[in-house]
Amino acid sequence: MIAVYSLHQILHNPPREFISNQVEAYGESPERAELILEALMDIPGVELKKPEVFDGAHFQKIHESGYLHYLETAFDEWIADGLWSEGIMPEFFAIGHLRAGAPPANPLGKAGYYMTDSCTMIVKGTWIAVQYSAFTALTGARYLLGGEPAVFSLCRPPGHHAGYNFTGGYCFINNSVLAAKYLQDNGSLTIGGTRKVGILDIDFHHGNGTQDIVQRLENILLVSIHGDPRHNYPYISGYTAENTAKNINYPLAAGTSDDTYFEIFREAVSQIKNYGAEYLVLSLGVDTFEKDVLGDFRLSTGIYGKLAEYLISDLDIPILIIMEGGYNIEYLSTNVISFLTPFIKI
Ligand SMILES: [Zn+2]
Repeated sequence: MIAVYSLHQILHNPPREFISNQVEAYGESPERAELILEALMDIPGVELKKPEVFDGAHFQKIHESGYLHYLETAFDEWIADGLWSEGIMPEFFAIGHLRAGAPPANPLGKAGYYMTDSCTMIVKGTWIAVQYSAFTALTGARYLLGGEPAVFSLCRPPGHHAGYNFTGGYCFINNSVLAAKYLQDNGSLTIGGTRKVGILDIDFHHGNGTQDIVQRLENILLVSIHGDPRHNYPYISGYTAENTAKNINYPLAAGTSDDTYFEIFREAVSQIKNYGAEYLVLSLGVDTFEKDVLGDFRLSTGIYGKLAEYLISDLDIPILIIMEGGYNIEYLSTNVISFLTPFIKI
């Protein structure tokens, strides 16, 4: 199995975040990706590849160009304005009508316009890391188009909370939608849009960014299984009332166990199958694990392998696995490898 990873991705290394009413060390640390990489290096049958560099026009198919320009220039502008040298943390948020107009010129105002929370920082190395995370996703998609049955893109920072024109939840560019669009357009820079692609998001948190972007695209179906947003990030989305022809939400209760999860997972896979997807992009988060600090499910390490086996046996289409969340450092790589092992054996 091919696994794609770039060391550029560790250049995004924010010192801290404001979460759970206190300032803490940044939860989405470079160490997360390094631990998974280290585990992959020990497994026979895993072929590690560096990502290729892609034209930024691919990003513009799924994100607003003003937003992409912001990601690219924000840190330098922030520093030129004499603001906090460690990085960008908004102190104001443009909600509702405040976001109806053009973004303000002031760097603090701009941060509040494009960033939706206080746990996602932009630092010196963010833009380069974000681009390489996106290239990692696109390279995985390219291997799939080349005939690989399954590929793992070890993306970091993650992407599923990044919307058309906003950051959030440690995310900047939406790697899963980017890869789905690339697969749909057969790698071309011309927008095709007729090939059906499914995105199955099994991170603990609802992929609000993915949901936001797929509404603007055609022939991509998002199916998401996640924690109840009444009690979990991103709070304002992930409910069944938001379901459209383009996205299906399965919010699950706190304490969800392996058996209950597996039942819903099978239903979610049947939605992808019935849709007639030609490719699957799997947003893999292992913050559904019982000991994860940011989730409230009770899944065991063993269930991840069973989910993967079910995907292989039930779906006869190529699968691109994109890394999203998972924050228990002690168990992170074990859970990811549990999921990947059936694919490595293909
Ligand atoms: Zn998550």
